[in-house]
Amino acid sequence: MRRIALLRGDGVGPEVVGQAVGVLEAVGARIGQTFGFEEAPVGGAAIDVEGLPLPPKTLELARASDAVLMGAVGGPRWEGLDYGIRPERALLALRQELGLYANLRPARVFGPLAGASTLKREVVEGIDLLVVRELTGGIYFGQPKGVERLSDGTERGVNTEVYTTPEIERIARMAFEVARRRRHQVTSVDKANVLESSELWRRTVTRVHRDYPDVELSHLYVDNCAMQLIRAPRQFDVILTTNLFGDILSDEAAMLTGSIGMLPSASLGGRVGLYEPVHGSAPDIAGQGKANPIATILSVGMMLRYSFALDAAADAVEGAVAAVLARGLRTADIHQPGTTLVGTAEMGAAIRAALPG
Ligand code: NAD
Repeated sequence: MRRIALLRGDGVGPEVVGQAVGVLEAVGARIGQTFGFEEAPVGGAAIDVEGLPLPPKTLELARASDAVLMGAVGGPRWEGLDYGIRPERALLALRQELGLYANLRPARVFGPLAGASTLKREVVEGIDLLVVRELTGGIYFGQPKGVERLSDGTERGVNTEVYTTPEIERIARMAFEVARRRRHQVTSVDKANVLESSELWRRTVTRVHRDYPDVELSHLYVDNCAMQLIRAPRQFDVILTTNLFGDILSDEAAMLTGSIGMLPSASLGGRVGLYEPVHGSAPDIAGQGKANPIATILSVGMMLRYSFALDAAADAVEGAVAAVLARGLRTADIHQPGTTLVGTAEMGAAIRAALPG
């Protein structure tokens, strides 16, 4: 049995996780796999009962499981709290405690939704790329950092972009391995024409690539990559990049697809992977049965692929989502004239029903 920790969290988190669990159970029944689920509070829900966004018991459960499925955390109720105990701290702590150094964010345009993008249909149709972002190093963590007051009364703010060879090697390996399960193409993105840390990045990625001769490697400067994502996004398969560049490029890539309710993610690196939708707790629609569960359902698709190596099952989940969209079912966030408006539960049920027998 595969043990999955369910951290539903706040706002729409419990609603969308509920639908994703239903899809996992339905897939399991079809392929003869049992998934066991155990729940623990996280984020605001955990602050309410335990006074902490990531209680020790929740972390213990996550560590002891085979994968973690998370909803979303946060909301207006907890916004007045100190930064140290805000719901969002749970995410940072989980990533750190589980050793999750790689964030995988696919951007895929489903044909029927190509009209929802702000770019022209002919540019976005067929986009199927994956950003592999280094998650625990780089400028967000590098020392020295801080703001100091100078003797002339002005201030000086410092952050440090720093990467070591082992940090680059492991994220590069992750990207090459992932590319082997896709179209065998990696574009490594850096700023090696200006930054020394990027020069080391490029040199190290090139060296690691020798172990993956079946994968094609190219390099792009980050400014060029930002342009290419808008100009000709279909050229990309796997984009490998640093924490800072990945933060920005993954949001840019996501917006090519048009809706936040469609975007899954995986954080990998340790023994236990963490899977969650990209969106937040959507307090404006929480509890109304309106949230789009597809981001979370595609996140369990990623779990099947990356934690359990059940690629056929992952394909089945993605195929079921595509089939339901092709039939014209839409939650409110992706609703267009001429399509059928459904709620969270109906969308989940339709996707379960569309799984191949
Ligand atoms: P959000 O992603 O929650 O919502 C932004 C907009 O998108 C809202 O209009 C919302 O209704 C809509 N939306 C989001 N998910 C949707 C879905 N599945 N279906 C339909 N519509 C959806 O971002 P926000 O409003 O900036 O943040 C709300 C709270 O969530 C904040 O407390 C924030 O800190 C937190 N947050 C958490 C995470 C996380 O848990 N990973 C990520 C981002 C924000």
